[in-house]
Amino acid sequence: MELDLAVQNAVITIAGMGTFEGSLGVKDGKVAALTAGSSAGAAKEVVDARGMHLLPGVFDAHSHYGLGGDDDFSTETRAAARAGITSTLSYLLKLDTDYESPYLEMRREGEAKSLIDFGFHFGVSSIEQAKRLTWAADQFGVVSHKYFMSFKRPGEGDYLGVHAVHDGILYQVMREVAKDPRVILVVHSENIEVVWSLADELRSSGADGLAAWNDSRPDFTEAHDIGTVGMFSELTGAKVFIPHVSSAMALEAAKRFASNRPILETCPHFLTHTCDDEYLGSLGKVNPPLRPKRDVEALWEAVFDGTIDLIASDHNSRKRANKSGDIWSSSAGFPGQGTMLPAILTEGVVRRGLALERAVELLCASPARIFGHYPRKGTLLPGSDADFVVVDLETWAAPDTESWGSFSDYSLHEREELAGWPVATYLRGRRIWSTDDGWTTDPAGEFLPATPVEG
Ligand SMILES: [Zn+2]
Repeated sequence: MELDLAVQNAVITIAGMGTFEGSLGVKDGKVAALTAGSSAGAAKEVVDARGMHLLPGVFDAHSHYGLGGDDDFSTETRAAARAGITSTLSYLLKLDTDYESPYLEMRREGEAKSLIDFGFHFGVSSIEQAKRLTWAADQFGVVSHKYFMSFKRPGEGDYLGVHAVHDGILYQVMREVAKDPRVILVVHSENIEVVWSLADELRSSGADGLAAWNDSRPDFTEAHDIGTVGMFSELTGAKVFIPHVSSAMALEAAKRFASNRPILETCPHFLTHTCDDEYLGSLGKVNPPLRPKRDVEALWEAVFDGTIDLIASDHNSRKRANKSGDIWSSSAGFPGQGTMLPAILTEGVVRRGLALERAVELLCASPARIFGHYPRKGTLLPGSDADFVVVDLETWAAPDTESWGSFSDYSLHEREELAGWPVATYLRGRRIWSTDDGWTTDPAGEFLPATPVEG
């Protein structure tokens, strides 16, 4: 058998297999050979990756496309491809009772424009929607649904397509979730009544900046609602997922539920920045907020000891102009996909000695497994999709937000150099970006229906 592509002499890291020098062979878009030797076999095209690392493509399970203005699949997946991301799950929340047309619209847009493979999370904010979870899994291949505990005032979530809720709805939704073992409830957990009262107080006192934002949404509001989620989950048996865990208290709250512990995601920004990084100003505004250094340290400990299950970007492609103004009026969220891989490789692997295999577990294998896409995605075992990234761990550079492809025009990391930038990214064996040739002109991203394995 002649391979379509062989990548030779790379340092390969695969979760569960460790790190070894070897070669990878691709045939018909799949991994056909994986060897510790210097050759994967005869191939039409041979790439010598000596001195480089080869990792599975990053599976970013948390992105928001289309919220920043003119950001869409073409702009954002260019930045993602350049940063080593080959699959993403994006939030599609504007559903109400008609799932079919928003789903088809976004899927068609992705199939026309996306450079990487993609799937969706839906939103659930009513009992009527909760009764359609099994139907959504069968009909659309979507098994994960976002619930916002923080939208409680009528009309507040309209811009996202989210209804106002209360904990009675949460409990009922979880009873429905528990009926289908494929379904995962993703719960944004912040006790918003406390946030309202603190924000009013701080704002009228003239407080501003990231520290004030953190003070208005303190760690205990996050921990409090995780406590509710964990208890309801134990009572109902629902599978729950806490996105963007930001604090030591949140980790402690989740760990109490040993029998049915929520799946825990954190994001690169909570591992690299604090609310004392005043130079960021409103650029660093996000929910939950950037926290003090002690929370960053607690999150790294949880990354090392296995408490954190995955890392995802929470990418939101805002423009710098929307982030100006005081902390109360600027928009929340920022771009994350363009720096996610180098940020974790630099701060985790290079500076803190995180095993490359653990980084690959958190960025690739684990998210693919949790959301029902493993082993097609997240690994490079023979038979998997040949999605991989060739990374240079030796060269340091600042993110180039002028030419990175994204709609957004800034990065939290713009003032610093990072290591671990990709030199080439491959999707199903096709090069979709490289330092030599730039982006492919032929977007071939496919929709990924979830196929969860039980147990
Ligand atoms: Zn998000």
